[in-house]
Amino acid sequence: MTAPRKLHIKSYGCQMNVYDAQRMVDTLAPEGFVETSSVADADLVILNTCHIREKASEKVYSELGRLRVAKDAAALTGRQMNIVVAGCVAQAEGNEIIRRAPVVDVVVGPQSYHHLPQLLAQAKAGGRALETEFPIEDKFGFLPPPKPAAIRARGISSFVTVQEGCDKFCTFCVVPYTRGSEVSRPVAKIIDDVKRLADNGVREITLIGQNVNGYHGEGPDGRPWPLGTLLTRLAEIPGIVRLRYSTSHPRDVEETLIEAHRDVPALMPFVHLPVQSGSDRILGLMNRKHTAKDYFDVIERFRDARQDIAFTSDFIVGFPGENEEDFAATLALVTQIGYAGAYSFKYSPRPGTPAADLQETVSAAVMDERLVRLQELIDSQQSAFNAAAIGNTVDVLFERAARNPGQIVGRTPYLQPAHVMASEDIIGQVLPVTLTSLERYSLLGTLATPPIQPLQPVPSHSVTGA
Ligand code: SAM
Ligand code: SF4
Repeated sequence: MTAPRKLHIKSYGCQMNVYDAQRMVDTLAPEGFVETSSVADADLVILNTCHIREKASEKVYSELGRLRVAKDAAALTGRQMNIVVAGCVAQAEGNEIIRRAPVVDVVVGPQSYHHLPQLLAQAKAGGRALETEFPIEDKFGFLPPPKPAAIRARGISSFVTVQEGCDKFCTFCVVPYTRGSEVSRPVAKIIDDVKRLADNGVREITLIGQNVNGYHGEGPDGRPWPLGTLLTRLAEIPGIVRLRYSTSHPRDVEETLIEAHRDVPALMPFVHLPVQSGSDRILGLMNRKHTAKDYFDVIERFRDARQDIAFTSDFIVGFPGENEEDFAATLALVTQIGYAGAYSFKYSPRPGTPAADLQETVSAAVMDERLVRLQELIDSQQSAFNAAAIGNTVDVLFERAARNPGQIVGRTPYLQPAHVMASEDIIGQVLPVTLTSLERYSLLGTLATPPIQPLQPVPSHSVTGA
């Protein structure tokens, strides 16, 4: 038997990349690779990159500088270390990486991970490999499913990709170019994946896609199923107690999704719905194809269906041409909606996107100042949202032992971490917790009812009749 080869994988960016990293690990497991947390020990290092903002892609080149040192050190001990650049920077800058970074053996775009074993064989044979095509075959049909032990090691919550790519072409965004056009996986394949996960202890599924509510995969009836219908079906799978999805576009919120929030208790009342700006003029320049009023209307439809629903969002400040009035409209929108949290970013021009050609740029100083003002407002809303939970009894899905001895940590429906003193038996259960205090972003509480004990076998002689 040959010793296992060690794989170190580092992911940047979105949930999709976290999920893709797991699928790369699953693809390389049959090749004898096991994961290691140490770069120095690794025979193979994969950087799973993000291209969404300039800072994200710059990180790749500085990381490659560090990896050159590690690769040279391995070579001195007679060991070959291969370096792979995967993800969206690989897709967007493949040839440039090969030219600029001789340390890299393989560059592979997100649609070609199922070809990793062949690309590595090519690199082992002394060549360098680049694959950034959008192959005709669907990679999901070729990626091996995770092994039961790998599923169990990853815990009780799992992502499942149901949709990839985006056809929206927001003028600031690289995703349509790096991930390609929208593709939805068939319902039957997703059901198989979720059943396999549930059979191995997963209790919570987050369906992911760049434009997840644009999902329209083929259903068992041969017709395209919308996201709401898919979620309703997945909720029937034994063992699945919580469902989530991310990231949604306000224009693709159709009625089955609203109905699912009304009718499916496992679907959590917590929705990430990016809006980017509160100014109709800027939304137009961004090609979002909706107004602030359209967005409010969508929020109202969700709230009418489920009153306890809460929202998070994404915002970009300093989009070219954004003036004080536009920015004030963003602050007004945030104030009016009242978010449970949100991400806000400074606009970063991305080569090849239409907005990169816009001339009327906003100065770095103004962007910084607007980002601070927006984040202060969002932070105050988030703190108020978390503080409002104190005194309530809420369902918590318990995930793992916490750092403090004796404490178990789980998540509320709004993904707030909640800690209780309890035994590890409660991991994987949803239990009501009375929340008593808040420490930064973590809630502390006590179990409101005793956990369900595993059933004791009943001795045959003690069976009693009514
Ligand atoms: N599909 C989602 C949507 O419709 O908003 C999000 C996709 S993107 C991976 C995540 C977030 O990154 C976006 O919502 C946007 O706020 C931010 N983003 C994308 N391109 C950006 C850019 N060029 N500069 C700054 N932020 C950007
Ligand atoms: Fe990018 Fe999202 Fe717009 Fe698609 S909808 S182009 S992923 S920001």
